[in-house]
Amino acid sequence: MRLKDKVAVITGGNSGIGLATAAEFAAQGAKVVIFGRDQESLDNAIAEIGNESIAIKGDVTKGDDLERLFKETSEKFGSIDVLFVNAGVVSAAPVDEVDDENFDFISNINFKGAFFTVQKAVSKLNDGASIIFNSSIANRKGMPGMAVYSATKAAVRSLARSFTAELAGRGIRANVLSPGAIETPLWGKTGMSEEQIEEFSNDIGAQIPAGRFGTPGEMAKAALFLASDESSYVVGAELIADGGLTQL
Ligand code: NAP
Repeated sequence: MRLKDKVAVITGGNSGIGLATAAEFAAQGAKVVIFGRDQESLDNAIAEIGNESIAIKGDVTKGDDLERLFKETSEKFGSIDVLFVNAGVVSAAPVDEVDDENFDFISNINFKGAFFTVQKAVSKLNDGASIIFNSSIANRKGMPGMAVYSATKAAVRSLARSFTAELAGRGIRANVLSPGAIETPLWGKTGMSEEQIEEFSNDIGAQIPAGRFGTPGEMAKAALFLASDESSYVVGAELIADGGLTQL
């Protein structure tokens, strides 16, 4: 019970890495609040997570939704100990095919949404709280078609440093989890065809020293370390969980 009686908020807690982390945190004793746009998957996730967890429907690009998330969380459970800034989208396109709409779509969710998630949460965070940003190895690795996505992930890597600097006086730590290639529904939302996904997956898969994609459960364990007091001296840092992909 490494998060016994802690209150954790997870944006995008209704799918993939966020859902696995919500289940792990709840199993470790946390009261978990998940946030996402799709009511059906929020309902299904709550049934899976258990331990009094609740779902709040909303969009990280909407300030009112984020304010409601943190207001309702503190009314229900009190102040927040762990904030996992996880909601994200990916869309792959060569540089000459990226238009304003596509650029804004990814940036508004992955970067602006992450910034305002923390901004709206700050007054409701306990001193000593842990903020975890879900970035990606894309923040440090050049990949064709991923320029905008990768830049948003570099942006949240930067936010962890800036927020740590601003909030250190309250003992609040901000750290980054950077997953490699993880088996989640995200891969079906890239805008790529089945064949392109398979080619991309095979190409990346062949480069992973661990010899396989990672699982959402493995990311949840890494997030648990950053959420818990076991990482009390890990501050403003990045935990790369990629099966060694960026090491070769
Ligand atoms: P996923 O299964 O597609 O989950 C994405 C989550 O984000 C969903 O719960 C989705 O919920 C939520 N979300 C998206 N847009 C949102 C918005 N505007 N407002 C609120 N919630 C929103 O994908 P995943 O792989 O678990 O991704 C989670 C994070 O891990 C992302 O930040 C992603 O960039 C990062 N990541 C993933 C991989 C990988 O290989 N899978 C690798 C590196 C990093 P709704 O659709 O209901 O809103």
